[in-house]
Amino acid sequence: MEPPLLDVQHLTVTFAGERSMATAVDDVSFHVGVGETVGLVGESGSGKSVTAFSILRLLQPPGRVTRGKVIFQGRDLLELPEREMRAVRGAGISLIFQEPMTALNPIMRVGDQIAEALIVHGLTSGEKARTRAVELLEAVQMTDAARRVRDYPHQLSGGMRQRVMIAIALACHPPLVIADEPTTALDVTIQAQVLDLLRELKARYNLALLLITHDFGVIAEMADRVAVMYKGRLVEQGPVRQILREPSHEYTRSLLAAVPGMR
Ligand code: ADP
Ligand code: MG
Repeated sequence: MEPPLLDVQHLTVTFAGERSMATAVDDVSFHVGVGETVGLVGESGSGKSVTAFSILRLLQPPGRVTRGKVIFQGRDLLELPEREMRAVRGAGISLIFQEPMTALNPIMRVGDQIAEALIVHGLTSGEKARTRAVELLEAVQMTDAARRVRDYPHQLSGGMRQRVMIAIALACHPPLVIADEPTTALDVTIQAQVLDLLRELKARYNLALLLITHDFGVIAEMADRVAVMYKGRLVEQGPVRQILREPSHEYTRSLLAAVPGMR
């Protein structure tokens, strides 16, 4: 059997307070195979974003990984020198956030931001990078891409900004994308369009996707397998269809009950 692309083993993250330690992620293990979509689902505060940030080593103090391994393409990312980790971010694993407005640079044209992602990873330079930025905006189905590259983030709608984020995430053809609540800030119609886009891009580029959400409806629509997180722990994981049919944990049942028309 092929080894998983990403294999998170016993990940444990604590936040040190003035006089106590809080465990935000507690002995979490899961894997993502090549081309697979795995959902990480749980209510707000359950440790999903901390897990994503730990995988990419973007966690800020006082947060600290105190135990575990993050094996990506055979190497433990937690052991890599920072210089090699920078190459992994973007070219190996890229991250799409919930709120593109905070992730995008407000005073830089979106085309330049996409081009910069290409240049940082040494994939292209100058005029070529600008042409490629237009192509990437076309790939994420941005209407009028050739003109939109010159826009600033505030000139775009929320859905368009999320398309720009996805274009940046795909710029270096990473084998794995982590999408942290990619559609939570969008209204329902736009949400559906962005999910359709992610599905199409996944198929086209054979991407693996770690899809983080509090919404089991999104998981049911998108994921092959799901891991359910509750108060920092994984309470169950398995194929989505099996968990939809027979959720074994009370908490999973309550997440399913929250989705209209699901049960
Ligand atoms: P989720 O993404 O599932 O909504 P998070 O991963 O952001 O949840 O947070 C999980 C928990 O980690 C929070 O409930 C909180 O206890 C802790 N936490 C996150 N960020 C910080 C921080 N900067 N300082 C202290 N505790 C934090
Ligand atoms: Mg979060």
